[in-house]
Amino acid sequence: MKENFIKKYTSMTGGASAAYIEKLLPLIDEIRELKKKHNAVILSHYYMTPELQIEEKEGGIADFVGDSLGLSVAATKTNADYIVFCGVKFMAETAYILNPSKTVLLPDDNAGCSLAESITGEEVRKIKEKNPGVPVIAYINTYAETKAECDVCCTSRNAVKIAKSFESKNLIFIPDKFMGQNLAVKFKTETDKNLILWSGTCEVHEQFRTNIESLTMANPNAELLLHWEVPQETVESTLNKNKGIVGSTSDILNYVEKSSSKEFILGSECDLGATLKGMFPEKQFITPCIMCRHMKLISLQKTLDALKSINTPSQQKYQIQVDEPILSKAYIPIKLMLDLS
Ligand code: SF4
Repeated sequence: MKENFIKKYTSMTGGASAAYIEKLLPLIDEIRELKKKHNAVILSHYYMTPELQIEEKEGGIADFVGDSLGLSVAATKTNADYIVFCGVKFMAETAYILNPSKTVLLPDDNAGCSLAESITGEEVRKIKEKNPGVPVIAYINTYAETKAECDVCCTSRNAVKIAKSFESKNLIFIPDKFMGQNLAVKFKTETDKNLILWSGTCEVHEQFRTNIESLTMANPNAELLLHWEVPQETVESTLNKNKGIVGSTSDILNYVEKSSSKEFILGSECDLGATLKGMFPEKQFITPCIMCRHMKLISLQKTLDALKSINTPSQQKYQIQVDEPILSKAYIPIKLMLDLS
């Protein structure tokens, strides 16, 4: 198992010192033991650091690694008593809303998200007053009290499908302005939908601008992998020069799998680059490596601390809960998203 972990970790990081890896191994052993003891699972997002993204079967700690949609689905399928969420707060909230009988632990309560923080439930109510009868689609990167005011949720993977499922020509899409603008371009060619947008942005993806342009100029044969949350002007100015894709995290993974190209430029969170290197070691990924400070608050040590807190007074510090009536109201748009996906 130890050898499997070292092999995977090395392929994801492009090499790490043996001394550093040796420091990780005792933490991993302890986490695995505590998971067994407490019947806990670890759900880990692709933006986590590599040591948190390696699955248990590969010698790591994660039971499931995925994007927001994959993690939401995994949360509905587990029989565990505890879900430890290696991700950010809105994700842990979503897991709890789907499993209120389980205990959901987030290793650092400060792991937020600039998109989720950009809009409140009160602000959604005001948008609805201005646009009566127009359905509201909430990107999953929102807090429960915001979701509670919306008709349906979506992730970057199913946003197009969800939007097309509504008959209404006008749709309110919150909170990501850039993702909304990128979707609007796609809709122009495929549907008659008109999106009313909010002004939120992802503080990571909004930084993919001239850095991507320079990389495309320096690497004209590399294919571009841009996330929906990247500014529309970046997509417009680069995707007409280099081959590539703008889409969700899973679109990016699928694209790389099918492409015969050996070289890619990544316009998404830095550790998705590690995920890609681990999955496709024969390909090369060039990235400006911009990290999400919220995601990086989660570490192996904090994950271990969260597991150690189970059945002690400090469990409270890690436990994510959503109270009624928000819980029941936020469940409706999340469940509708899962049904439509
Ligand atoms: S990468 Fe962006 S959208 Fe994702 S958690 Fe960080 S701030 Fe939020």
